[in-house]
Amino acid sequence: MKTTLEDTLLASIRTIPDYPKPGILFRDITTLLGNARAFRRAIDELVHPYVGLKVDKIAGIEARGFILGGAIAHQLSAGFVPIRKKGKLPHETVRVAYSLEYGLDEMEMHKDAVAPGEKVILVDDLIATGGTAEGAVKLLSQMGADIVAACFVIDLPDLGGRRKLENLGVDVRTLIA
Ligand code: AMP
Repeated sequence: MKTTLEDTLLASIRTIPDYPKPGILFRDITTLLGNARAFRRAIDELVHPYVGLKVDKIAGIEARGFILGGAIAHQLSAGFVPIRKKGKLPHETVRVAYSLEYGLDEMEMHKDAVAPGEKVILVDDLIATGGTAEGAVKLLSQMGADIVAACFVIDLPDLGGRRKLENLGVDVRTLIA
């Protein structure tokens, strides 16, 4: 029997209960990344709607968005832009506060990383409340990027992140829920 993409991905993601704190079910994609077939299938699936669209940049959210985003950028012959926690980027940045489960944090992108009108795809491993991705969308919008889509391997639908991004007018793609 042929295994579906969903089966392959679900079987390759490890769940760690009570990490990083009690009550959280942490969806660990390091096992997906370490599985050659699952990694390739995830990247191929994330990439295929955008082949031929002349996407300029993939923006990846630290840290797991860097790994997925680098592979996607290579496949689409696009550049890669890191969106990082504050204080990590060496040149002039734009900064935004974003909401976490408890409180706020800040993320940054280099000011010259995206030019106005460039077509950008935002990438991270997982969308939960959407606070992180919303912050990234704000940074990219501030720089005048044309956000083609935001892509994630995993959606936690009960937490409403997808809706939050869609309400900002962003096209959201996820592979499994
Ligand atoms: P949020 O801002 O609530 O959408 O959270 C998304 C960010 O936190 C992503 O960068 C995820 O990697 C990480 N994250 C949130 N919840 C989980 C979870 N249950 N398992 C793994 N990563 C998570």
